[in-house]
Amino acid sequence: MTALLEVEDLRVSYGRIEAVKGISFRVEEGQVVTLIGANGAGKTTTLRTLSGLLRPAGGRIVFDGTPLSGVPAHRIVSLGLAHSPEGRHIFPRLTITENLRLGAFLRGDKAGIARDVRRAYDLFPVLGERRGQAAGTLSGGEQQMLAMGRALMSRPRLLMLDEPSMGLSPIMMRKIMETIRELRSTGTTILLVEQNAQAALALADQGHVMETGRVVLSGTGSGLLHDASVRRAYLGED
Ligand code: ATP
Repeated sequence: MTALLEVEDLRVSYGRIEAVKGISFRVEEGQVVTLIGANGAGKTTTLRTLSGLLRPAGGRIVFDGTPLSGVPAHRIVSLGLAHSPEGRHIFPRLTITENLRLGAFLRGDKAGIARDVRRAYDLFPVLGERRGQAAGTLSGGEQQMLAMGRALMSRPRLLMLDEPSMGLSPIMMRKIMETIRELRSTGTTILLVEQNAQAALALADQGHVMETGRVVLSGTGSGLLHDASVRRAYLGED
């Protein structure tokens, strides 16, 4: 089976600092794949490179059969790869609806955009209730929902989520994880970066553990969840 995303020996540097040191992984259509690992392992750098925001120093990225080398970020979005970044980056003074519509900036189909805004409100009712309010008035968890809703507005074939649970209460975190499950059940393919290894592995089909720029362990989500070394290093067990 050809993968929706294939990453081969990817290397990324910031000047002389090599942040990603030759990683390889695949994401099959319909899967949730997670990258876990401590702060500074290179997870965010990987997602930013896949989005075209950083240029790799080496390796290959192939999305749906198309090599992404040299392809600009906006073109990568239109190929179907969307990114909900760490720290959310919503526009606080714009309304919730305006923020959502920005996620569709490359689309011209007005009726389809309106339908997808409604779909975002179905997925996250709190956004619909507050649609006319400035996005800056939302709580952290609600802003995370808005960032996910905005990424979905480009109708991605692959949705990349960078630390969606960061800074959220346990209840909000569960809600976000449930939403990821729901999205998968409707056929959305997801690449999830998380520091909350427990939550991410519990819902992932495949997982990769990153340490200082390398993938040190790969397996199914449940396999990694029960792996003794993962439990010691990332799930706080002795
Ligand atoms: P976090 O969860 O903290 O975001 P991460 O696994 O996503 O961690 P990255 O943010 O990708 O890790 O960082 C990987 C390495 O690259 C780290 O050593 C980090 O200090 C370094 N790094 C990240 N951004 C830059 C930058 N703009 N310039 C220089 N070094 C950077």
